[in-house]
Amino acid sequence: MKTLRIPRLSVWLLFFVIATNSMAQATFSLPKLPYANNALEPVISEQTMNLHYGKHLQGYITNLNKLIVGTAFEQADLISIVKQSDGAIFNNAGQTLNHNLYFLQFSATPKLVPTGVLFDRIIQQWGNFDSFKMEFENAGMGVFGSGWVWLAKTDNGELRIVKELNAGNPVTKNMEPLLGVDVWEHAYYLDYQNVRAKHLSELWKIIDWNVIEQRYGE
Ligand code: MN
Repeated sequence: MKTLRIPRLSVWLLFFVIATNSMAQATFSLPKLPYANNALEPVISEQTMNLHYGKHLQGYITNLNKLIVGTAFEQADLISIVKQSDGAIFNNAGQTLNHNLYFLQFSATPKLVPTGVLFDRIIQQWGNFDSFKMEFENAGMGVFGSGWVWLAKTDNGELRIVKELNAGNPVTKNMEPLLGVDVWEHAYYLDYQNVRAKHLSELWKIIDWNVIEQRYGE
């Protein structure tokens, strides 16, 4: 009898440990990056990566996980939360989504110019790739204070350059975000001080158009 009781107890204990672990597990977690924190230098320094990815993004994720407990958003996916929430939940969900898209669009060995359907669309709308880049940079310069500049896709596959304040994301305007540049000062101040324009023009060196093409789809 004793030999049976001990394994049974162990089994219950194991279930208990698994159950409490999964209950305590955070809903959202820091995305794994396909590059090292120093791989984007000198465009983005290791110090900026450590703070921006390791501290700022982690902070938004930690806040979001705490804020959604006991709300209608507890089981929701990130895009649904961004579309439906407001206040602190929107701010932290928006910044989690924005930074996930931001950090995952970079590479130390990027595809520097798009091809295929996305390239054709850019040429159709802006005439040439440099004109698109210039308008995108100008839009980034035109965001007053903290925010983002996006290349987004409309329902019918057209492209839009969209300026957003604070944690804004084009999903709230029923557009798909393809490329996002963070113009909050924390994104560039250590590396470029107040010169946002330089940060914007340097970023093209690490934006991987393979990723943007995948987001655009065909
Ligand atoms: Mn940021």
